Amino acid sequence: MSSVQVAVVTGSNKGIGLAIVRALCKQFPGDVYLTSRDPGRGQAAVAQLQQEGLRPLFHQLDIDDLQSIRALRDFLKEKYGGLNVLVNNAGIAFKVHDTTPFAVQAEVTLKTNFFGTRNVCTELLPLMKPYGRVVNVSSMVSSSALGGCSQELQQKFRSDTITEEELVQLMTKFVEDTKKSVHEKEGWPNTAYGVSKIGVTVLSRIQARLLNEERKGDHILLNACCPGWVRTDMAGPKATKSPDEGAETPVYLALLPSNADAPHGQFVSNKTVRPW
Ligand code: NAP
Repeated sequence: MSSVQVAVVTGSNKGIGLAIVRALCKQFPGDVYLTSRDPGRGQAAVAQLQQEGLRPLFHQLDIDDLQSIRALRDFLKEKYGGLNVLVNNAGIAFKVHDTTPFAVQAEVTLKTNFFGTRNVCTELLPLMKPYGRVVNVSSMVSSSALGGCSQELQQKFRSDTITEEELVQLMTKFVEDTKKSVHEKEGWPNTAYGVSKIGVTVLSRIQARLLNEERKGDHILLNACCPGWVRTDMAGPKATKSPDEGAETPVYLALLPSNADAPHGQFVSNKTVRPW
């Protein structure tokens, strides 16, 4: 088993994920895994970084596919005996003018952004080594969507005692409510992406709390963040940040020094903790 440190970035064949891998290859003292659901797109991205003189490694990962997640888990366990840095970056968003019915957008978006990210965490968080760093890429849209929720929902999503099961129930209810066209009456905002990212931010707060309760002595730091508005296929060419600039906050959180005890369980943008 290798004693080398290891970092994994989900959804890193393009966009912000690729830029995070680029920065980690330059700054992280260990192996960096670029992962992609499609091996062809992943290998092409590895070749692109190799042309820049960097040496990322590759592993397939589709966060919608539990088998794929478990194959990566088993590989990391066997080769490295765990994991030092996990960046949950993979995500999807329907375009504003997409005419796909809202209920379908809700189901598809939540499936990847919330349930897929949660499945990666369920399988990989137990592998995190002492002083590990976990970064869940959420969005400022999670904050604005929270503001668009009913007072009752806001209270639940801000609660310091909400459990992962309760959060899963709420995310499932959102999808069901959109199918019945009652989501607005039930207090939800009209944004599937926003609700999925509320899920990512609240999940991060819950996971950080669990780490405090169950693994306090391991000094693992886990945070959610917003990369900013970044020029990628998702956000388009008018966005204000380059992918490398978008990678700055996630990479800052991934490389928090071993003597840091904060931030932890926070929502961070521009390297600054934001109120939730
Ligand atoms: P992007 O260019 O569309 O890249 C998304 C990445 O996620 C791609 O590599 C994509 O792979 C991958 N992905 C999607 N579904 C996946 C799955 N099931 N399994 C594995 N990988 C999957 O988007 P981006 O702008 O870089 O976004 C990265 C993250 O930042 C997302 O979580 C996004 O919500 C968040 N974010 C972005 C912005 C922004 O302004 N761009 C702002 C706030 C937050 P394929 O190539 O195979 O599709």
